Amino acid sequence: MRKKQFKAESKRLLDLMVNSIYTHKEIFLREIISNASDAIDKLCYLSLTDDKVGMNRSDFAITISVDKDARTLTVSDNGIGMSADELENNLGVIASSGSYKFRQEQNEDSDTDIIGQFGVGFYSAFMVADHITVVTKKYGETQAWKWESSGAEGYTVTEAERDTVGTDIIMHIKEDGEEAGEFSRYLEDWTIKSLVKKYSDYIRFPIKMLLPHSVKKPDSPEDKPEYETVYEWETLNSMVPLWQRKKSEVTKEEYDEFYRQRFGEMAPPQSVISVSAEGAVTYRALLFIPSKVPSLYYTQDFKSGLQLYSAGVMIMDHCEELLPEHFSFVRGVVDSPDLSLNISRELLQHDRQLKIISANLEKKIIAELKKMLSDDREGYEKFYENFGRALKVGVLNQYGEKRENLQELLLFYSSTEKKLVTLREYVERMPEGQKYIYYAAGDTVEAIDSLPQTELLKERSMEILYCTDRADEFLADSLRQYDGKEFRSAVDGELGLEDAPKTQESDSDRECLAFIKETLGDRVDEVKASGKLKTHPVCMTSGEGLTFEMEKYFKAVQPELQMKAKRILEVNVAHPAFLKLESVRAADPELAKKYAEVLYNQALLIAGLPIADPSGYTDLVCSLWS
Ligand code: ADP
Ligand code: MG
Repeated sequence: MRKKQFKAESKRLLDLMVNSIYTHKEIFLREIISNASDAIDKLCYLSLTDDKVGMNRSDFAITISVDKDARTLTVSDNGIGMSADELENNLGVIASSGSYKFRQEQNEDSDTDIIGQFGVGFYSAFMVADHITVVTKKYGETQAWKWESSGAEGYTVTEAERDTVGTDIIMHIKEDGEEAGEFSRYLEDWTIKSLVKKYSDYIRFPIKMLLPHSVKKPDSPEDKPEYETVYEWETLNSMVPLWQRKKSEVTKEEYDEFYRQRFGEMAPPQSVISVSAEGAVTYRALLFIPSKVPSLYYTQDFKSGLQLYSAGVMIMDHCEELLPEHFSFVRGVVDSPDLSLNISRELLQHDRQLKIISANLEKKIIAELKKMLSDDREGYEKFYENFGRALKVGVLNQYGEKRENLQELLLFYSSTEKKLVTLREYVERMPEGQKYIYYAAGDTVEAIDSLPQTELLKERSMEILYCTDRADEFLADSLRQYDGKEFRSAVDGELGLEDAPKTQESDSDRECLAFIKETLGDRVDEVKASGKLKTHPVCMTSGEGLTFEMEKYFKAVQPELQMKAKRILEVNVAHPAFLKLESVRAADPELAKKYAEVLYNQALLIAGLPIADPSGYTDLVCSLWS
């Protein structure tokens, strides 16, 4: 018997398999089971038209057995089987799968990744086995065949015995290397069970295993029971995917349990979105909006993406291409018979069908959130607290229709309503004559509420949106307008009120303002009479461009940039404090300078900006009355 060589490319692939990294190895079982399921599909289909097959759908099964002494793991099916020729052709050359071809066309650096993510069918078994025997009998033939290989050296095909039609894949599991259990784990019932659950739960045929159960010996006394171990066939997979069932037929408990098991979350999801689509692409999806922020969500280690299935077989754990970044917190499953099992990550990025699915899912998620916003405001606020940040980033990164959809989902704290409101609500409430959407940024609602600049607007009962999250101010800045209404910072910009109090500065006022500027030097860019202040003496504004809140943000995240907002000291020229300064200026310029210092530092304090010399400032203030 002559040993036959693998085709060149198969050899290279075998090498890759053997050297693939640890965590990728486990996918071999998924590949072998999916082949078994395909083979059963074929015979099952034949049985519909050919009575001679003599089998019902319920007769088909995949069985897994382990022989620890012989170190073998066997996956058997009663599917269509292979002829000698087919054994040669199907297992002697690399499967014509997309991933391998693609890798050849591209550069070859990403070998291990392709294997890990997608597997390459039958050959992946060589990641865990040093010798594989395939015994198979094709439907309609009398002779069975045995294919054997220890990897790179080649394979043999010889006659064999097998009573019934079907295939056994007998994998001789490698000895452990340095890492204990590296390979032996694939001989443990527990590992097999969990791998089937993880990757092949929804294979539509039962995957059975003979497993030990402890039962009471029938003849042992009730009060002193004795136990014995019996072996019983157990079906490891649940066969019917939850997402293949109608939403109306699935209970909340079932969804919660699925979510808990599948995504390892203790808290039940806040909403479940079930999608069934036919048309350009046929698929089903089951999406979950978490009720809690996943522990790693706002870190680099968070793995986003949906689980991707092709006709009940999981092909990817985290398919990021299915979700836009701003919805990366969504968990779920997508199953489409239109996708190929052997598809590489790189190919996925260009996959048209996947793009269609992802666009549809985004719409579904937005619709669900809008529904929550209108029907369950409290629930939506909770959601927003968890994932509002992600939505905001989405608004900042998107354009056109996508942005418009997302901005409807934003919430801001309202100065008049004392609660979170949407931009739509704000605009609908705007009194006639109000031209702008006013907002003000600061650390807390209380801090913003006490900003002197908000006084005038409040007096006119005009609503101000309080931006307490750093991202909020960037949002207002980036959106520029909503529904044709421009955003205006109540803190920094001109309020643009038609009947704003005029800044009636006298010559003496102007001289006095110039005196303050001179005193403060280049610590301020400008000193001017304010049109915003009523009872307060001063405030610090930044004018157009970078604001103080942005400055604080950059200082925290990118201090090397040394981003600094403009400092414009606005003075209420009608305030007694200013009048006092004005009156002492000629007679006692030193005292007037001290007053100017105090006004300047007060303005910094109110804006939440650091003062350069706190203890010097304290001494200065105290010197004024001692
Ligand atoms: P793919 O499944 O993508 O075709 P594989 O490497 O997984 O690639 O399998 C190669 C081929 O071997 C299959 O297409 C099938 O024809 C054959 N094959 C593998 N396992 C079985 C099996 N259990 N029964 C019948 N045919 C099988
Ligand atoms: Mg396969």
